[in-house]
Amino acid sequence: MSFFFLNLVKNIVMADYVDMKTLKFLLKEVYDANKLTKYDKFKEYDVESFEMLLDSTKSFSDKFLKPFYKEMDTNPAHYKNGKIIVHPSVEKVMRNAGENGSIGSIFSYDDGGMQLPLLIHQANGFIAGAANNGAIGYPGLTSGAAHLIVTFGNDELKKRFTPKMISGDWGGTMCLTEPQAGSSLSDIITSAKKLSDGSYSIKGDKIFISGGDHDYCDNFVHLVLARIDGAPKGTKGISLFAVPKNNIDENHNVTDSNNVTTIGDFQKLGEKGFCTTHLAFGEKGVCKGWLVGTENKGLSHMFQMMNSARIDVGMKGASLSTAAYLSSLEYAKERPQGRRISSSGNKNIESDQVNIIEHPDVRRMLLFQECISQGSLALLLQCSLYYDLSKVESDEKKEKYHDLLEILTPIAKTYPAEKGLESISNGLQVLGGYGFCTDYDLEQYYRDIRIMSIYEGTTGIQSLDLMGRKIIMKNGESFKFLINEFKETIEKASTYEELKPYANTFKNYSKDLSDTIMELIQIAIKGDHERYISDATIFMEYMSNVVIAWQWLKISACAKEKIINGADDHLTSFYEKKIHAMKFYFKYELTRNKGIKEILLHPDSLTIPNKEKKIFI
Ligand SMILES: Cc1cc2nc3c(=O)[nH]c(=O)nc-3n(C[C@H](O)[C@H](O)[C@H](O)COP(=O)(O)OP(=O)(O)OC[C@H]3O[C@@H](n4cnc5c(N)ncnc54)[C@H](O)[C@@H]3O)c2cc1C
Repeated sequence: MSFFFLNLVKNIVMADYVDMKTLKFLLKEVYDANKLTKYDKFKEYDVESFEMLLDSTKSFSDKFLKPFYKEMDTNPAHYKNGKIIVHPSVEKVMRNAGENGSIGSIFSYDDGGMQLPLLIHQANGFIAGAANNGAIGYPGLTSGAAHLIVTFGNDELKKRFTPKMISGDWGGTMCLTEPQAGSSLSDIITSAKKLSDGSYSIKGDKIFISGGDHDYCDNFVHLVLARIDGAPKGTKGISLFAVPKNNIDENHNVTDSNNVTTIGDFQKLGEKGFCTTHLAFGEKGVCKGWLVGTENKGLSHMFQMMNSARIDVGMKGASLSTAAYLSSLEYAKERPQGRRISSSGNKNIESDQVNIIEHPDVRRMLLFQECISQGSLALLLQCSLYYDLSKVESDEKKEKYHDLLEILTPIAKTYPAEKGLESISNGLQVLGGYGFCTDYDLEQYYRDIRIMSIYEGTTGIQSLDLMGRKIIMKNGESFKFLINEFKETIEKASTYEELKPYANTFKNYSKDLSDTIMELIQIAIKGDHERYISDATIFMEYMSNVVIAWQWLKISACAKEKIINGADDHLTSFYEKKIHAMKFYFKYELTRNKGIKEILLHPDSLTIPNKEKKIFI
């Protein structure tokens, strides 16, 4: 290997995986995390304590997450002699998450948590996810499962299960998927039969269960969707159960097996260190589960975990695209190749090669990555803030923030996944041939992000949810709340001369969004519901582009305000960079909506199976 390449490899290895300055700018300046500390619930915190938490997550990630990122990929989780073998660093990750309180970080003090705003919890997840997205899945799912018990379980269940989950001694999972029921949860057949002691006998197979089994936790609590004997068909007959892998005594000591059998571990394209198990409940004897919440309301209870898991998945997308962006940026600054074209149109072959960051096409790819990764992060922090406000505000405002979160969740899950993949693909392209090789992390980021548009509801299902439910829910009230948020940002941005044209452009695109929705709704009003929903995924892209443009305008208005208020030279150039990225987004991404709108309103229906049953596919 030449000296140049040795140096390059060294630098790439050392390239940071997360941009703390941008993260802190978003938290402090754009979303004003400090204002949360004015509410009673978060009064124990201040900006300094938030910052300390972020910095300690970064130093833990530097030491214990990033160093094992590649190793967990090259030594994947696997099934051997009835057990799932995972990388030993999983033990450290679970222990640390228990010790530093991050598993229960958003739980109330009464429930053994830290009562931290979701905004800060997600920011921590962003840092850790950029270091090692698979490893953080283990405590992440444990947190979600414990949160479900805390929210819907009775005191006895909470006492029995949550302390050891919060401490990281036990793992937690969500068990929805069955071989015949993936997207369509109404087809779940796992059964639950009531026993004389009040518990239920659970029987059935669950597949693709993340973090379902390994040796570094003493026990697992599976949150299982099942159908109580005699329950109504469809989603109205699904209940939620807490099912431990092992039975326990009153002191939380494991006694014997509860007959949850680990059948295997799926081998995957990416996230190879995060095991994906097949579990059989009650195959070898009675497997006891305890009802969480109300009979037949299991799916709506599970939605709490699914909604927060959707934000988590979106955040993993933002983390991975950020890490990829920073890696390719570093490479582009160091890799000499080719020469710039002079004003006469010639290349001077006598001159030194320039670093590839000088080429407009490479800059385009880097700016694209910056816009997608930071735009995604911004939206996810915005959603987290809405979640926090929906918990602490007055009743009327609570509803508004809740509805805003509802309408934005499918976008916050899907955009970072779908566009993040495209963004990482561009990052890989920046490295040329090396991007395709295992010497660098880019190819792993590319494989790892691919799952984000599949689990927690595929892009197709998220898009149906957005168009078929969220846009029209409460007679379009949630959408109106969103339009009002847009208006606030337009007003603020319009006060700055430089941003005025962009505020106007955004106003036009958001009006276009409203008009297009009105036109599409006419199709549903006329009764052609299948046609209305047939291009839901295209609509998802259309609406997402406007939502991310809103975030970029908001970021720019904040950056401009800081410049005008007298930032020093260093900060001014940081803020100017944000405004430049907004301009790039408006030119290269938002304008795509013109073509997308044409697709959405096009009279031909080419994907709906036709009445004559002619086969076109
Ligand atoms: C690595 C990994 C980890 C996972 N972790 C978990 C976990 O921890 N717990 C858990 O319960 N599950 C988990 N899953 C399962 C995951 O949630 C499902 O794979 C996903 O919901 C899709 O279901 P499916 O695979 O059965 O695909 P299908 O539902 O068969 O979908 C196949 C395709 O058809 C489309 N489609 C399906 N129905 C419709 C429709 N009505 N309209 C339009 N398009 C439709 C989908 O969008 C998709 O493109 C995991 C999966 C993987 C791969």
